[in-house]
Amino acid sequence: MFYDVAVVGSGFSAIAETVNLLRLLPPSASIAVVGDDPGFGRGTAYRTELHVHRLNVPAGRMSIFPDEPDDFVLWLREQKRGVPPDGFASRDDFGRYLRDRLAALLRNRDNRPTLHFIKAKALACDQCTADRVVFQLDNGTRLDAASVVLCLGVGNAELPVDPANVMGLRQERIVRNPWRLGWLSQVEPNQAICILGSGLTMVDQVLALRAHGHRGPIHVLSRRGLVSHPHLTRKVEPVAPELPASRDISVLLSALRRQVRAGADWRGVMDGLRPLTQRLWQELSREQQSRFLRHALAWWNIHRHRLAPDVFGQLDALVHGGTVIVHKGYLQTIGEAGDRLELAFRPRGRADIIGLRADWIINCTGMERAGIAHSPLLRQMREDGLISSDKLGLGICVGQNAQVLDCNGKAQPGLFAVGALTAGQFWEITAVPDIRVQARNVAVAISQYLSPTNV
Ligand SMILES: Cc1cc2nc3c(=O)[nH]c(=O)nc-3n(C[C@H](O)[C@H](O)[C@H](O)COP(=O)(O)OP(=O)(O)OC[C@H]3O[C@@H](n4cnc5c(N)ncnc54)[C@H](O)[C@@H]3O)c2cc1C
Repeated sequence: MFYDVAVVGSGFSAIAETVNLLRLLPPSASIAVVGDDPGFGRGTAYRTELHVHRLNVPAGRMSIFPDEPDDFVLWLREQKRGVPPDGFASRDDFGRYLRDRLAALLRNRDNRPTLHFIKAKALACDQCTADRVVFQLDNGTRLDAASVVLCLGVGNAELPVDPANVMGLRQERIVRNPWRLGWLSQVEPNQAICILGSGLTMVDQVLALRAHGHRGPIHVLSRRGLVSHPHLTRKVEPVAPELPASRDISVLLSALRRQVRAGADWRGVMDGLRPLTQRLWQELSREQQSRFLRHALAWWNIHRHRLAPDVFGQLDALVHGGTVIVHKGYLQTIGEAGDRLELAFRPRGRADIIGLRADWIINCTGMERAGIAHSPLLRQMREDGLISSDKLGLGICVGQNAQVLDCNGKAQPGLFAVGALTAGQFWEITAVPDIRVQARNVAVAISQYLSPTNV
């Protein structure tokens, strides 16, 4: 079958794109969704069933529809969840909300486009021309569509060092992708854990370990040892940032610090910056963007991606109680010592190397730098010149309307990307409030692209 649109992926970006297409395209149109994840829409972030895994954005900003900002809050109220607009719902509930909203659109059978779910992974792109995009799927079929929206996420970063000398069962205790939660049930209550990375993924894994009855020590190793700040329990209004004309990253950061020293709440300034971040990012030169990633990213992350207050409280208690031990340092090697794993790291600001023994190593070094290496499909498309990696290695090159650019920088007429894959162009495009706008804009562009004679 030839589809008008195919959405490839099964996380939040894919469901946001699908609901917008269902709302915007005429009933004569056909949509295929290609993904191998059974919980469509949940993806990496919302597939967890642990109640301790909370959203890090207040419920009032998590609607899937940018033009109906209260939609998630209304759903929570219908479900009697007792989460106010500035509260933090569980990520499991958010996944249920997404499923409910899709189901409601699908019930309207007579007045919506045809939608087919194809349970498969896209393996390769065979053709990408003005009138047709063709993919090979891992179920042996092919997918033909006039437009395709890539909603593939960015996967998980590789381990920072190669543990090639670790043998046998000990290799299995190096968890390269913590989102495959199967490893948790194999951890014994008193085993020592070492988590690489101190971002939100680390916090998730610590809470998941505790919920599974783990009571042993949890070492956390990252270059700066920085952990996210909490949201306040009271609402903070966004404050308009006082930005200088300069687009030098040091000058910009100094101006923001000055504003905070003069009395503005830093959380308000960060929130006030949010609607401007995409534009600001695009106004930075490549060199300044790269400086930001090298020197400011860790600081940005802990101020920008804050934790729900009670989640922070739980982590803080574990740190103060000595269960979670945060180390600042540079990982050198991962080896083995008897039947355990041994990491060697150089503490920040020192020249000596320290050894740390653990039973498990969990890679939580994040997603930002995952680029496209995790995806055989994207690697093939890049080799064939159909896409190009952005210069910072964050994802793929797209234009302002999220249309994918080929190796010569030319827009591919029917090919779009949604979500963190487009971070090189937009930077602030990893969270729901930004992805939902991008998904809607892409659906609008596709509805205009499909001429009435085609649908
Ligand atoms: C743990 C966590 C918590 C978060 N919490 C929040 C929050 O509270 N608030 C917020 O606003 N944002 C949050 N985020 C940000 C989050 O990234 C986005 O909200 C969103 O989940 C990103 O979804 P995605 O679909 O782009 O990517 P993903 O969720 O990674 O989904 C990509 C999907 O594509 C599929 N796929 C990949 N390759 C192929 C292929 N070749 N063929 C078919 N399918 C393929 C994968 O199987 C996967 O299902 C969180 C992120 C994480 C990781």
